[in-house]
Amino acid sequence: MKKNNPFENSREQLEEIKNIIDLDDNIYEQLKTPQRLLEVSIPVKMDNGKIKVFTGYRSQYNDARGPNKGGIRFHHNVSREEVMALSAWMTWKTAVVDIPLGGGKGGVIVNTKELSESELEKLSRGYIRAIYKLIGPDVDIPAPDVYTDARIMAWMLDEYEQIAGKHIKGMITGKPLNLGGSKARGFATAQGAAYTIDLAVEKIGIKKGASVAFNGFGNAGANLAKIMFDKEYKIVVASDSRGSIVNRNGLDVDKLIKHKEETGSVVNFPGGESKEGHHCMEEEVDILVPAALEDYINKENVDKLKTKLIVELANGPITPEADKVLNEKNILVIPDILANAGGVAVSYLEQVQNAYAFYWTEEEVLVKLKELMDRAFESVWVEKEKYKTSMRMGAYALGVSRVAQAMKDRGRG
Ligand code: NAD
Repeated sequence: MKKNNPFENSREQLEEIKNIIDLDDNIYEQLKTPQRLLEVSIPVKMDNGKIKVFTGYRSQYNDARGPNKGGIRFHHNVSREEVMALSAWMTWKTAVVDIPLGGGKGGVIVNTKELSESELEKLSRGYIRAIYKLIGPDVDIPAPDVYTDARIMAWMLDEYEQIAGKHIKGMITGKPLNLGGSKARGFATAQGAAYTIDLAVEKIGIKKGASVAFNGFGNAGANLAKIMFDKEYKIVVASDSRGSIVNRNGLDVDKLIKHKEETGSVVNFPGGESKEGHHCMEEEVDILVPAALEDYINKENVDKLKTKLIVELANGPITPEADKVLNEKNILVIPDILANAGGVAVSYLEQVQNAYAFYWTEEEVLVKLKELMDRAFESVWVEKEKYKTSMRMGAYALGVSRVAQAMKDRGRG
């Protein structure tokens, strides 16, 4: 199968919304590409004494609404196109949740499973040295993404502050709590998605105890599975890069998370049947949560799906072709730029706390997150109804219009 180009997908989505909302041509031309794209080489002295040079990227898509903001991905499939697409989606996402930020994204081509702890630290610090001049709390603020975490954010913060010679905590988010991280940031993406699911299931009448499948069981997926398990949803499939675990009577998510922590995978969990591959497509479930990578649902496999609601916890997991099929079948999709916006929303709250050097309780953060997510969901729904379109295009109508308005206000039209 031809590998999809995520940037082409993001452009296709932009073109579609252009026609729906009648976007100004001059604005559209500027929104088709990132404002700045940086490619860097990062030399790392490996444990065997040899230098290995890694390639990294940072894409700053659009800063009309505020400093660019977006995670850093460490993955062997990272590419220029992927980073550009992810930064475009960040731009619409920050606008959908209406926080004063633009969109950015970074990545390094690497398989972290092949690195020792000290090689990983050198790579993380090297990446920051390479992009140092182009980031900062008022310019572009990185955060965690696939295969990066709070520990890596701490190394990056330290490297940045050592070069700057002062504390600049707001230069990165997703930090450990004792270095200026926010309460609730660790599960914010999942919690934000859970708020949107509460509203979506009401709209389409999915009942308590509904069945759920997860493709991807990392920071985003496992945390949402835990929240839904506690709300008495039945989690019947969980899959990760090594395979799947299935139990039609429901997996015990607390025990499954412990198993994954101990063994590195959901596979061989004794409370279910282990299967090869990402078994979610084969099972009939009420809710499907793609929580891994792009292109998971595409034109080759979309017809297999037996579900009522898809929650895009991952970025870009459905190709535009597959999206059309889902719309025709009336399967509701909560799009990534809404469903997973809780992560960047709490990252923004983290920056606000850093700026004030005053920190909120978890309850205070969650009240603010819920307010942002509920308002975004309802505003997207209004656009969806207004244009008689999908939730994705409803979210694009909202996000892209807000970015376009900021550009016009700045005289960039
Ligand atoms: P993570 O590294 O914590 O977890 C990724 C998970 O996906 C792991 O369980 C891994 O085993 C699994 N995986 C990898 N390849 C797979 C495959 N081919 N099939 C099935 N599973 C596979 O990453 P994360 O932070 O949970 O991010 C997951 C997705 O959520 C990404 O698309 C990311 O951009 C998006 N997201 C994350 C955040 C956040 O705050 N962490 C915020 C917004 C969006």
